[in-house]
Amino acid sequence: MEAEALFKRQCMEALNNDGTADEELLIALVLETYRDRAETIGNLKQRADGMKEQNEGLRAALAFATGHLAEQRELLETVLNHLPLGLSVFDTEQRLILSNARFRQLFGLMEGDTVAGVSINSLIAKIGGVERSEGRAAPRETVPESGHIRRREWVMNDGRIIQSVVTVLPDGSNISIHADITQDRQAAERIAFLAHHDPLTGLPNRISFRERLDSALAARKAGEQIALIHLNLDRFKSVNDTLGVSVGDKILRKVANRLRACARNGNALARLGSDEFAILQCGLQQPWNVTALADQIRRELSEPFFRGEKPIELSVSMGIAISPQDGVDTDVLLKHAGVALSHAKNAGGRGERFFTQEMEAELEARHALEADLRTALHGNEFELHYQPLYDMAEQRILGFEALLRWNHPTRGRVAPMEFIPLAEEVGLIVDIGRWVLKRACLDAAMWPEGIKVAVNVSAIQFTHSDLQQDVSAALAISKLSPNRLEIEITESVLMQNRDEALPVLHALRERGIGIAMDDFGTGYSSLSYLSSFPFDKIKIDKSFVNDIVDNSEAFSIIRAIILLGDALGMRVTVEGVETAAQLELLAQEACDEIQGYHISPPRPAYDVPYLLSRPQPKVKARAV
Ligand code: C2E
Ligand code: CA
Ligand code: CA
Repeated sequence: MEAEALFKRQCMEALNNDGTADEELLIALVLETYRDRAETIGNLKQRADGMKEQNEGLRAALAFATGHLAEQRELLETVLNHLPLGLSVFDTEQRLILSNARFRQLFGLMEGDTVAGVSINSLIAKIGGVERSEGRAAPRETVPESGHIRRREWVMNDGRIIQSVVTVLPDGSNISIHADITQDRQAAERIAFLAHHDPLTGLPNRISFRERLDSALAARKAGEQIALIHLNLDRFKSVNDTLGVSVGDKILRKVANRLRACARNGNALARLGSDEFAILQCGLQQPWNVTALADQIRRELSEPFFRGEKPIELSVSMGIAISPQDGVDTDVLLKHAGVALSHAKNAGGRGERFFTQEMEAELEARHALEADLRTALHGNEFELHYQPLYDMAEQRILGFEALLRWNHPTRGRVAPMEFIPLAEEVGLIVDIGRWVLKRACLDAAMWPEGIKVAVNVSAIQFTHSDLQQDVSAALAISKLSPNRLEIEITESVLMQNRDEALPVLHALRERGIGIAMDDFGTGYSSLSYLSSFPFDKIKIDKSFVNDIVDNSEAFSIIRAIILLGDALGMRVTVEGVETAAQLELLAQEACDEIQGYHISPPRPAYDVPYLLSRPQPKVKARAV
């Protein structure tokens, strides 16, 4: 139509006035139009080609971008699904946008549960666990310039603990990281447990006991009493020494169990140290209840512990302090229970003591004595006195017993019974005993040939020092002949460490050193020890002599003991002979030696020559 109209217009233009057509003009007009159109079509075609080219370029770019995007997506998915942590992203409406496989695994969700768009609440409803509400969830932490961080914790039905760290973005959407913290939590709980418990018995330790005591004392109401028992097993060290530490540990566990049974219903029990325990008794009438508890503990622990068939007997010492009268402060109450325990121990163990103020003063005096004793050796404060051993047959002094004296710079002379048990307890007897041996041998080496010296040796010297070496050193330095030295031991040496002591005694005896059993008859089982070692001599304790003149029974007893020693082929010494009458009586018996004030009290070393040279008491010879 357009072409027709154009041609019509051109025909009109080519019309002459006379109505004829100007053919040339018409051809020119048509050609011009034709050329115009041809040019436009060419241009259009060109443009179309250009656009086609551009289009192909774009299509290639789009294909590339799409491929790249798919790759990126795949990579993201791989990364997400291999993350050791769970990840979830929720939008502002709290609908899931993104999550990974670990997230599903941690919360026990199926793949279909975590399609994009599900709400957080429907997911929470599906997880096999509950959120831990109390305590642990940490407060919000602010993240600079974005939202804040919240920690949530989930306890799963199978016991796992999952922690979620939720970063809430300013628009309300959130990104969360989830991790299984079960092992970390268990390790932390174990560490916390170990910090407050004793691993051997599982009982609370000293730290947590103090905390319990702190809070019990702080919460104490007016009129209420709190009792504290501090327990220590008697001679437990020797159980460890003789049976081994692993048997010792087993026994300690059994002790803990027995104590648990005693300490039930609300009393706090703890192990304070190796063989030390403590019990706290609150809210009861005292001292009656704590006395009953202590009785029960003593009974329980005195039942033998069995190692296979072999019974092991234990006993326990207890110190008791009661708040408020013995202290309202943790440290004071613990200290006072400890003071009472020391008193129970010093009294020989096997029992309990209630704290008293006098105890503390006594203990302080003891500590002061101990401190002084530590410096006494270097301060040359010790001295040996010598008491004659009088031979009945030869009617003369055949030797002397060395008896230790402590010349204290301010207290004056301290009696051996006051400081030797203490020196034994704190181990100082080892160094002191070594000094005594050396001093006694040096002194005896100055005496006439044939005069012996007897030295007292404590049980500790057998276990805590090399007694043979100490004896050798003393003999070597003094050049004293071994057969002029006699060692006096009490039955405690064989009672406490028989296995260690016997070989040492045999070795000493083989070298010609005499071995005497001292204080015979005072111990529990002197008789049984007589058969365990061939003593050269028994020394009958002075307590047997006291009444022999006036009391015929007493005389019969000492007579029997003398006969016993004689029958065993041992020399018999009677100690503590104070009167001529006692001497006369003993002279009729098979008594080989006497010792006592009647002959002479112990005298300083410089008196020995005088004691040897002065006229000796004469006694009527025994009718054989
Ligand atoms: P012990 O070995 O039985 O010594 C005898 C004690 O009886 C001595 O007391 C002595 O002075 C005393 N005594 C002697 N004759 C008589 C008497 O006729 N009547 C009375 N009533 N007592 C008499 P001492 O010197 O006070 O020693 C006491 C204890 O101290 C000794 O008893 C001994 O077990 C211990 N001891 C003394 N020196 C040492 C030592 O160097 N080492 C060790 N480990 N213990 C020692
Ligand atoms: Ca003695
Ligand atoms: Ca004695």
